[in-house]
Amino acid sequence: MADDLIIIGGGPAGLTAGMYAGRARLRVKLLEKAIPGGQINSTSMVENYPGVEPISGAELSARMEKQAVDFGLEIVQATATLVSRHSDGFAINTDSGDEYRSRALIVTAGSAPVKLGIPGEEELTGRGVSYCAVCDGPFNRAREVAVVGGGDSAVEEAVYLARFAVKVHIIHRRDRLRAAKDIQEKAFREPKVQIHWKCVPLAVLGKQGVEALRIRNVKDGSEYDLPVYGVFFYVGLKPVIPQGLSDLVQTDAGGFIITDENMACSTPGLFAAGDVRSKRLRQIVTAVGDGAVAAYSAQHYLESS
Ligand SMILES: Cc1cc2nc3c(=O)[nH]c(=O)nc-3n(C[C@H](O)[C@H](O)[C@H](O)COP(=O)(O)OP(=O)(O)OC[C@H]3O[C@@H](n4cnc5c(N)ncnc54)[C@H](O)[C@@H]3O)c2cc1C
Repeated sequence: MADDLIIIGGGPAGLTAGMYAGRARLRVKLLEKAIPGGQINSTSMVENYPGVEPISGAELSARMEKQAVDFGLEIVQATATLVSRHSDGFAINTDSGDEYRSRALIVTAGSAPVKLGIPGEEELTGRGVSYCAVCDGPFNRAREVAVVGGGDSAVEEAVYLARFAVKVHIIHRRDRLRAAKDIQEKAFREPKVQIHWKCVPLAVLGKQGVEALRIRNVKDGSEYDLPVYGVFFYVGLKPVIPQGLSDLVQTDAGGFIITDENMACSTPGLFAAGDVRSKRLRQIVTAVGDGAVAAYSAQHYLESS
């Protein structure tokens, strides 16, 4: 029998949607390809979730998962490989070969780091090039590392890396950071952090592992090699859109899914929430807010259709 609701993605948006759907006693399954919690699993410390003292990303993930499961959410470990519409709702095929059917669908597949595509980046990924300081930071004890980017994640994770590294170089193409002021202040206070203003990375150098990062100063055109052991890229996000979904939704110029304020997409019964959605602020609080609204909207759709 088809479920009432399937949720694709178990980050903060999906787990919150699952918790609300469980409390509403819907027959609901959540498909998660990795570990529930999504990007917060790769967040060193979350300090801006209201009502919660600073908490590690892993701990916050575990709490969100438990709360959703306690309310009746069933989490299935599977990757949604194909989404299609059928007469009674949606069919979701997975990498395990199973097909799930539901009358309503919420997509919370999140976002993934943008790759710069500079020489050496792909070749040395996993051998010094990383997109996750929490995962790979401890490998850089007593070494120098570089962080590319100037937003919240870049600067926050640079400060985190200073726990392990002897020096953390932030490579930023502008002459001021985009990160929130309190995060900037932490970086300015950290003696191990050095910011290379108006600089862009040109190539990651090394054979078996990262040996250096080649940099250009865009103001004076000079180039130099920074001897580092690790390079962490935080230069933006792109949406994760499961195959088949593009035919059922409208997207903005960046490929993010356009919804109305009820998280509804252009196809009836289909909703999107969290980072995958076209919006201004991609954070945990906005993801959980979206997830709650999407579940509530799905519930109303199911009752009225
Ligand atoms: C390093 C870093 C630090 C951050 N720090 C903070 C912070 O301090 N405070 C804050 O508020 N925000 C922070 N953020 C942002 C925050 O983590 C995100 O805004 C939030 O996690 C978005 O939640 P989401 O549920 O929309 O997506 P995600 O967290 O991206 O979760 C999406 C989930 O969907 C799963 N998935 C994707 N495709 C499929 C598929 N086809 N089938 C099954 N499952 C699938 C993924 O495995 C993932 O678990 C940080 C992000 C990063 C990367």
